[in-house]
Amino acid sequence: MSTPSPTTVDRDTPAAPPRFEQLGVIGCGLMGGSFALALKAAGLVQRVVGYARSPQTLARARTLGVIDVEAPSALLAASGADLVLVSVPVAATGETLRAIRPLIGPDTLVMDVGSTKGDVVAAARQALADRLGQFVPAHPIAGKERAGVEHASADLYRGCQVILTPLAETAPALTARAQALWQALGARVRTMTPEAHDAAYAAVSHLPHLLAFAAVRALAGQPCAADFLGLAGPGFRDFTRIAASDPDVWRDILLANAAQVRAQARHFRAALDTFEAALDAGDAHTLRELIAEASRIRTQWAAGAYAAAPPSSDPPCTAPPSSTSPR
Ligand code: NAP
Repeated sequence: MSTPSPTTVDRDTPAAPPRFEQLGVIGCGLMGGSFALALKAAGLVQRVVGYARSPQTLARARTLGVIDVEAPSALLAASGADLVLVSVPVAATGETLRAIRPLIGPDTLVMDVGSTKGDVVAAARQALADRLGQFVPAHPIAGKERAGVEHASADLYRGCQVILTPLAETAPALTARAQALWQALGARVRTMTPEAHDAAYAAVSHLPHLLAFAAVRALAGQPCAADFLGLAGPGFRDFTRIAASDPDVWRDILLANAAQVRAQARHFRAALDTFEAALDAGDAHTLRELIAEASRIRTQWAAGAYAAAPPSSDPPCTAPPSSTSPR
């Protein structure tokens, strides 16, 4: 399998902030709740109508001032909205879009915030029919390991990147409106294909989450796990922070992007083998070189060295090492 080039276009020129009469937010959790709060704080929306799967979540969202009106269904949350945000676990995107399609207005902008894009775009193609051109797939590169509306905040999206993966059918005016909206919330917007998005985020997000889950489980399966955990410090805390993420959300992400995640896992296993070989050989020089290279790249990344990287890599990223996988 080849890995597509993450061909991107920076879209950072600020445009006039768009204003909306009514936001329909379907999935009033961390991401949807933060979006509603951010729009309200920026004065870009008059009214927020929300729908969540459980009445408890919906009531909490209204008590917290995230939404103004509780809708009894996704369909009624979308009814009369000029902006709809679908912020549910990605596997629920298709059924949600199918449910709301009959009442999506002719000029309504529909977005999602899903962490995977190939599956979301495929689901939208199945579900939206004549409203497909109004859907602008979006992924804000923001969030927390804590799910739920009680963790929502108005400034979650400030300073983050938002990736848009518009379809060939997407109305350019709505993509521009989506771009201006995210910029008004303080985000930097880039566009790319769903395939490039999924390849890149398998590497920098999905595999790291998988590794954090696996690391905690590997530790927890040992007889002395409780003792070890009692001795753990900042290194463990930093490395495993994302292992506290929501199970439903992450089950869906890993399944939706399984091929790319497995490709990245093969890269990881190859790297781990290299480290283990140095350990087996007692090769201090090689071990130090490997650590030094990783340390240098991580330090450069944290200093923003890659933030201004050219929008595309040419030639494209190389294929994952399928044949070198030892396990
Ligand atoms: P969350 O806090 O758990 O919120 C999810 C919301 O979706 C809740 O309101 C939940 O309702 C509702 N929901 C769950 N299953 C549903 C279903 N089958 N049908 C309809 N509604 C359903 O999760 P989140 O972190 O906001 O994640 C939402 C989306 O954002 C996901 O697609 C995720 O990939 C994406 N995302 C997350 C992050 C992050 O850091 N968390 C970052 C970027 C993108 P109940 O509370 O009633 O169950």
